[in-house]
Amino acid sequence: MPFIKYLADWAFQAPRIWFAINVFAFVTLLLVYKSLVTPTKNLDDYVLPNNDLVPVLHTPEEKTSLEKAEGLYDSFFSDDPLQSVEKITTALPPIKYVIKSGDTLARIFSRLGLSKESMYSVLEADQEYLVLDPLQLNDEYEFTLDDQGELVKLTRVIDISKSVSYVRHDNGGFSYEENIKPVTYTQVAVHSEISGNLYLSAQKIGLSEANVSIIYGVLKGRVDFRKDLREGDPFDLILKRGTIDGVQVGEVELEALQMTVQGVTYRAFLHSDGRFYDKDGNSLTPSLRRWPTYKEYRISSSFNNKRLHPITGRPAPHNGVDLATPIGTKILATGDGVVTRVANHRYAGRYIVIDYTGPYGARFLHLSSVLVKKGQKVKRGQVIALSGNTGRTTGAHLHYELHVNGRPVNPMTTKIPTTQSISADAKDEYNKDVVRWVSMMSRENIVNQEDLSVITDED
Ligand SMILES: [Zn+2]
Repeated sequence: MPFIKYLADWAFQAPRIWFAINVFAFVTLLLVYKSLVTPTKNLDDYVLPNNDLVPVLHTPEEKTSLEKAEGLYDSFFSDDPLQSVEKITTALPPIKYVIKSGDTLARIFSRLGLSKESMYSVLEADQEYLVLDPLQLNDEYEFTLDDQGELVKLTRVIDISKSVSYVRHDNGGFSYEENIKPVTYTQVAVHSEISGNLYLSAQKIGLSEANVSIIYGVLKGRVDFRKDLREGDPFDLILKRGTIDGVQVGEVELEALQMTVQGVTYRAFLHSDGRFYDKDGNSLTPSLRRWPTYKEYRISSSFNNKRLHPITGRPAPHNGVDLATPIGTKILATGDGVVTRVANHRYAGRYIVIDYTGPYGARFLHLSSVLVKKGQKVKRGQVIALSGNTGRTTGAHLHYELHVNGRPVNPMTTKIPTTQSISADAKDEYNKDVVRWVSMMSRENIVNQEDLSVITDED
C-alpha cells in the first residue's frame, strides 16, 4: 500500500496542514447536517388551548392530510409569484374580499402577503366556532392589516345583522368577536287554500322548504295528506319576518297554522322553546336525546364557554363536551332534522352540522366516518357517523355540541325538551299567544289581512 504509506508520511511531516483539513471537514459536515435537521415551523409547534399542553398524537392518516395541506400551501407560494400582492407596509382600511370558486384560506392569505402562522392562529381560534372552514362561495370577508402588513382582524360578514371577527391579541393569538344589529320583527297572517297539493299550495305563497316540512311534521299522523286533502281546503298561517332597515334578515319563521280538513280544524302553535304544541299545550314535535351515543361515555373534557387560556388568559371556550368514545363508536342524531354540513377542518377533523326542528342544532367533530349526506333528513336516534380521532386531538373522542338559537349550550345540563307538554309556569304566556294567533288567523277577520303587529327583538 505505497499510497497510504506516502499519505501517512506526508501527514506526519505536515501536522498543522492535516489538522486544518480535519477542522475544515468537520465544520462543513456540521453545517450541512444543521441545514438538514433545522425544523421549519409546522402545525405541531402550535399548542391548542384545549390540549392543556399535552403532546399531540397523530394517526398516520391525519399526518398525511396535514402534510398534504402544507404541501398545497407551499406550492401555491412558489407557483405564481405575480399573483401575490406586495407586502403592505402602511395602515390601510380593511381589504374586502368575496369568496370565489376554488378559493382556499391559504391562497387568500398568500395573496395578501399574510403569513402561514397567522392563518394557523386564526384557524386555531376557529375550531370552537367553525366560521371559516369550509369557505362559502360569495361570502364577504374583511382583512384588517397593521402597518407591518400583519393581520390584526379578520371579519366574515354573515348577513346584514351579523358579522364575526377574529381579532389579534397581544400574545399573537386571535379572539372571537361578534357584531350584531337589532332586528325588527313583523307578524303577518296569510290566508290561503289547497290547490293541487299541500306542497304546491305552500310554494305558491312563497313558503320555504323548511316551513313546509314543519307543516308536514306537525300535521303528520293526524292528517293523511294524500287521501284527506281536498281542493279548496282552507289553511291559515302566522309568519314572522325579521328586518333591518327594511331588508329581510334570515328565514321567515312559521309561528302558527290552522288547516281545516274533512270538517275538522287542526291548529299548531310555536312556543318559545321552539317546538309546536296544540292549543292545550301538548307537544306536536319530538323531543331530544341527551346523549349522542347508545352508552354514556366518560366526559374527558366538559363544556366551558367561559374558559380562559391557561397561558394567555384570553377567552378560549370549549363549546362542546368531549366524550371518550373509542374510534368507530356509533354516533346518533339527538333530534329530528336536516344535515346542513359535512366537511373537514384542520383542527375539528371530519365533522357534521345538523339543524334540528325548533331552535336546536348540533355539531359532531373528529369523526372517522360520516354515514349521512348534506341535505339529508335525519331522525332522532339515527346512526349518522362513527367517532374517530381526526383533526387536532389528544386522543380518540367525540366533541359534541348542542346549539339553541345558534348558541352553544352545555349538552349535558341544559334544559332540553324531554317532556311532552308545556310547563305550568310557561302556560299563561303560551295561552296569550294562542288567543292572539287564533284571532289573527280567523277568517272573520280577513279584512284585517294587512293587520301587522310589530315587535322589536329584545336581544
Ligand atoms: Zn372538544
